[in-house]
Amino acid sequence: MEMLTGIDIKKTNHSRLDEVDFDHLEFGKYIADHMLVCDYYEGEWHEPKIVPFANLSLRPDTLALHYGQTVFEGMKAFRMEDGRVNIFRLDKHHDRFNRSLYRMCMPDMPEEIFKEGLKQLVKLDSNWVPKQEGGSLYLRPFMYASEARLGVKPADEYRFIIFTSPVQSVFAKPIKVKVETEYIRAARGGTGFAKCGGNYGGGFLPTQRAKEQGYDQVLWTKDNRFIEESGMMNAMFVINNTLITPPLSDSILDGVTRDSLLTLAEDNGIQTDERAVSIDELKAAFIDDTITEAFGAGTAAVVAPIERIGIDGTDYVLPPYHEQSVQNILKQKLHRLRTGLDADRYKWNTVI
Ligand SMILES: *Cc1c(COP(=O)(O)O)cnc(C)c1O
Repeated sequence: MEMLTGIDIKKTNHSRLDEVDFDHLEFGKYIADHMLVCDYYEGEWHEPKIVPFANLSLRPDTLALHYGQTVFEGMKAFRMEDGRVNIFRLDKHHDRFNRSLYRMCMPDMPEEIFKEGLKQLVKLDSNWVPKQEGGSLYLRPFMYASEARLGVKPADEYRFIIFTSPVQSVFAKPIKVKVETEYIRAARGGTGFAKCGGNYGGGFLPTQRAKEQGYDQVLWTKDNRFIEESGMMNAMFVINNTLITPPLSDSILDGVTRDSLLTLAEDNGIQTDERAVSIDELKAAFIDDTITEAFGAGTAAVVAPIERIGIDGTDYVLPPYHEQSVQNILKQKLHRLRTGLDADRYKWNTVI
């Protein structure tokens, strides 16, 4: 904490806040006024700074551009009922960031820089946190190998940046997903559990193909048999009134939304089960009508209802979701907790 007593802040002279149309936010369209930057060299992290959001200048031999040492987080700050702002599950995001960094052979991000940095940045740009229902400030901490050198080995220098963007929940409309059995996203022993850049670049082609076939997203599978997760979301199903999601493994991202929804379900009398879900089980559940819901869970969308699942060229249709759907109940509970309408019994909110 010591090195942080007052992060050095250089404020912008030209706030872009009045350019924002808060009633029509598209994901990532607007970036808030400031960013935090912190450099790692000579074996340690140096003083973080908050500066106006601006371009980076990179040498072409910057290692991240070649060998993919990049890791990111995706989290949110919410406007509470009483007008204050809160950052959701700071600890869990920090933990996951460090687990991703470890896998990518990148230096640990100290808790003080991550947490104090986010708090001070969000505080400075707190007018960018939407007041509209369903709105939030999306926070993007990330790190990349900033050293310029052509050798194929872990870099000795890194840069950590946080910038933020006001958003509305995406995927308001139910989505169509395709069970993907030709391509995979992650393999046993690989980097699937890490939020590292390469995992996403590799997912674009299969997703593009699925879009050409009329779907919005793919559902990744393992061994051509078991459901893993979706693009940037964990997969959840309601079968026989039980909320089911595949168990965490090294090929599945440990979603904070997944964890939050499971916790809320358990504490609200909804049966949960973390277990493997096979493609065959899904097909059978559609045939005997025991599956009532399928949805994606992730920070950006919170809950993305699935209306149709394509398996081997056949589309299986889910009943429309409604007020009393499990996904809706959980989404509401989460919303109430984050906006201060319900007590924060799990200490998930960091109010700033
Ligand atoms: C980020 C992400 C998720 C969702 O995680 P949250 O912490 O809930 O946002 C799920 N799957 C993948 C592949 C992701 O990158």
